[in-house]
Amino acid sequence: MHTHSDIAARPVKRVVIAGGGTAGWMAAAAISRTLGKVLDITLIESEEIGTVGVGEATIPTLMTFHRLLDIKEQDFMAATQGTIKLGISFENWLDQGVDYIHSFGLTGTDHWTAGFQHFWMKGRERGLAGDYGDYCVELKAAEQGRFAHLPKRRLNYAYHMDASLYARFLRTFSEDNGAKRVEGKITEVKTDDASGFITSLVLANGEEIEGDFFIDCTGFRALLIEKALGVGFTDWSHWLFNDSALATQTTAVRDAVPYTRAIADTAGWQWRIPLQHRVGNGIVYSSRYMGDDEAKARFLSSIEGEVIKDPWPVRFRPGQREQCWHKNCVALGLAGSFIEPLESTTIHLIQRGIIHLMQTFPRVVSQPDIDQYNARLSEEIQHTRDFVILHFHLNNRTDTQYWIDYREMTIPSTLKHRIDLFRETGRVFHVPTELFAENSWIQVMMGQGIYPKHFHPSADLMGDAELSHFLGQISTDVERTVRQLPTHMDYMRSYAPGA
Ligand code: FAD
Repeated sequence: MHTHSDIAARPVKRVVIAGGGTAGWMAAAAISRTLGKVLDITLIESEEIGTVGVGEATIPTLMTFHRLLDIKEQDFMAATQGTIKLGISFENWLDQGVDYIHSFGLTGTDHWTAGFQHFWMKGRERGLAGDYGDYCVELKAAEQGRFAHLPKRRLNYAYHMDASLYARFLRTFSEDNGAKRVEGKITEVKTDDASGFITSLVLANGEEIEGDFFIDCTGFRALLIEKALGVGFTDWSHWLFNDSALATQTTAVRDAVPYTRAIADTAGWQWRIPLQHRVGNGIVYSSRYMGDDEAKARFLSSIEGEVIKDPWPVRFRPGQREQCWHKNCVALGLAGSFIEPLESTTIHLIQRGIIHLMQTFPRVVSQPDIDQYNARLSEEIQHTRDFVILHFHLNNRTDTQYWIDYREMTIPSTLKHRIDLFRETGRVFHVPTELFAENSWIQVMMGQGIYPKHFHPSADLMGDAELSHFLGQISTDVERTVRQLPTHMDYMRSYAPGA
């Protein structure tokens, strides 16, 4: 029998990843690529259990992950039937019939004292400014369904991709870098009595896989972190009402647009994610406000194209694991935290978990590393949570109790501060560790109906003629740039056609 000090002081050599969804294979890809020569990496997955089968919209940070791993964009996009995502079209969120786009681009240009929004507000007050979106290339390109890689002006974008093809792509990549895959169902997690560390995973066929460090990527089952180690979960369902989803895949009835659609419904919302070869569709709803039968009927009556995969249900709980890293186990993906997919943030959070882990990868597991990891990740998850709540809370809808309750609920104080600050002063701020930058907060707050009371005095330094010229130059440049772009699918068909 091992003593506590034996196990806890043992150098980390054998890494075992439990689960082969997006989280498992992203972890395997990153660890095998960077530390594959010094570690033994084994991933266990069960075809019988399968994956959650959703998670097809991303945000621009995925590009950083691919760059770190040396994955070529064209290879990745062709392998996953990928399309470009310039942002999300939010339809009926503020009120029925009102739409806006949250795009990934920058809007206008900032002055050192004040953001562009202050000049725009002054321009609007003076009757000199167009829509806020007129000053953002990515937003206008999304609206017009256009995209290209321009030599002089880089557009900021993310991807839509087929999740199962992505897992396959990363599997090949990981195996090429030395990771070993084991097929089988984990039936037991063995721990050391003295230290509480996980020592091995036992499969249904009796095979036992030992390890020094374990990554729990078993999805909502959270087999290691929760079932074996008993780490609790902080539930946020009082702030995020949705707990259910139905997903399906349909044939495309038109060329893919370069943005995700998020369409508000009576007690939730629906997504449309256009890929090259098909469309991913889903409804996310709160079972407290809408029954499963009603959700299914509303969903099926609103999707287009032929259903190519029957709808499958997903139940979830919004919240965060109390510690994503505990003992010698790190939970990634759905086993770690879940904030509903409105802003496509889960894959990003998986990536952040992996990057933090790579940066603090333990030679020997140590508590200060664990504390640092948990504190950083937790902060990032909470920023994301606040950003997602924002979309639901600021609404003018009166058609259902769901939207009324969202508007009237008490929000986290951190979010309240941001909203109050913007409403009073037009100012936003960006915490260094947070994902969404100023431009995202401004677009969504304005899209959800907040118009600030005041603008920064430096906007008064410009007279009407100068301000008009300044705004006009930006919008003309945006228009000129967008005009040069081909349609998104014309571009994709030659850039990275899917097989
Ligand atoms: P899973 O895909 O569930 O994988 C779990 C793995 O563990 C599987 O391989 C399974 O076989 C294995 N496993 C489980 N138990 C065992 C066992 N006993 N033995 C062996 N293997 C086992 N994220 C985004 O970034 N963008 C989106 O647009 C988006 N949309 C979403 C929509 C919905 C409705 C939901 C619920 C989530 C969405 N997400 C999205 C999140 C995204 O789906 C996940 O982050 C992503 O798929 C990662 O899942 P995972 O790998 O953690 O879990």
